[in-house]
Amino acid sequence: MARRKIIAGNWKMNMTPSQAVALCNTLKDLVATDEADVVYCVPAIDIVPVVEAVRGTNVEVGAENLYFEDKGAYTGEISAEMLVDAGVKYVIIGHSERRDYFKECDCLLNKKVKQAFKAGLTPILCCGESLEQRETGVTMDWIRLQIKSDLVGVSADQVKGMVIAYEPIWAIGTGKTATTEQAQEVCKGIRDCIAEIYDTDTAQAVRIQYGGSVNAGNAAELFAQPDIDGGLVGGASLKADFGKIVNYK
Ligand code: PEP
Repeated sequence: MARRKIIAGNWKMNMTPSQAVALCNTLKDLVATDEADVVYCVPAIDIVPVVEAVRGTNVEVGAENLYFEDKGAYTGEISAEMLVDAGVKYVIIGHSERRDYFKECDCLLNKKVKQAFKAGLTPILCCGESLEQRETGVTMDWIRLQIKSDLVGVSADQVKGMVIAYEPIWAIGTGKTATTEQAQEVCKGIRDCIAEIYDTDTAQAVRIQYGGSVNAGNAAELFAQPDIDGGLVGGASLKADFGKIVNYK
């Protein structure tokens, strides 16, 4: 069964609400396609205007984070229920910037993944190694540990519907893309890991993205790999080039 590609932009901490709406209007025709799912993962304050701006188009909206509790005294946090009510369908969990700058550990991320599923959101779970880990040859051990820890208590059916993004930390925002072979090798390794934890059907169903300096020039080759089902795109998702990445063929 062929997996449908999914190409998601991660806007990070960019775009005020008015800039966000302007970007949606600029990209509207450029990202139109029937052949892939297209998602804009946007800052919390942009969610409501972006949901409105993409209404009636092929674009779905994602959040960049959520909190794992249902509600209560958690100043500054945003719940899964709030995201769903605002029209959000996807949520990035465990981006390396959150793991690094905000010290989000796998135990916390596992709670966030489960909370996303509980609310009906699709997690885009990020994993990836540092340059030091790659150079010392522990890339796959590290990523397997992240995946296994983040998916504790998550069912096979849930995994079938989720997205995993392989993002080597050394390739994020650096202009250094992993080679096609490196990206395919790790995405296959993640699929093998899912087959071990769950089963072959689950591994064949889960969508695995590559992220890390994806651009209009390298998207086609990356997305043509058998285990790469699209991309999580940072910098290039804020430009008209995102249309070329979405329509990479
Ligand atoms: C990201 O933030 O997930 C990312 C991959 O960024 P960039 O495309 O800019 O490397």
